[in-house]
Amino acid sequence: MKKNEVVLRQMYRARIRGKVTIVDLTSEHEGGGWNGVDIATRKPVRIRRAERLLCPCKGNGQAIPQGEYGVCKLCGCTDAKACAAGCSWVDAEHTLCSACAEKMSQVPA
Ligand SMILES: [Zn+2]
Ligand SMILES: [Zn+2]
Repeated sequence: MKKNEVVLRQMYRARIRGKVTIVDLTSEHEGGGWNGVDIATRKPVRIRRAERLLCPCKGNGQAIPQGEYGVCKLCGCTDAKACAAGCSWVDAEHTLCSACAEKMSQVPA
């Protein structure tokens, strides 16, 4: 993952101390990186770098399939876990959120 792709209140598969665990990102860490909760142990974890986050996933660790209804195909946000800045669906299939649509429109062609 890249830093600008990381979304709070989203679950991610993360590599922590050589192990892949599922973390729920809760807030930004004032020293850089993010605070999260290890879903398996319910212990707080700190993610220092975005590279530690492998991909957005569901609470059970299942990868979010591309194009699933109600899951943004780019950031993985859902109705229950919208992007930090707030977002809404821009397509009828509910696979692309307004935050990502805006980001894409800012990328020079
Ligand atoms: Zn999105
Ligand atoms: Zn979103």
